[in-house]
Amino acid sequence: MSDKNSNTEQQMYQCSECGLWYVEEEWKEKCEIWCRENKSCNLEIIKHSVVRDVAGEYN
Ligand SMILES: [Zn+2]
Repeated sequence: MSDKNSNTEQQMYQCSECGLWYVEEEWKEKCEIWCRENKSCNLEIIKHSVVRDVAGEYN
């Protein structure tokens, strides 16, 4: 039994503008750029974000 204790916790990236989390750094950067320039959210981008229970905000 090989003791491969690889922590598979996924690296995630957070948009510093809107605070959304992304698995892919590429999308996080797209989001940051968009957020910075447009001060709004782009659905095409944020649909790539991952949901995190930051504030337990659920409906
Ligand atoms: Zn953003």
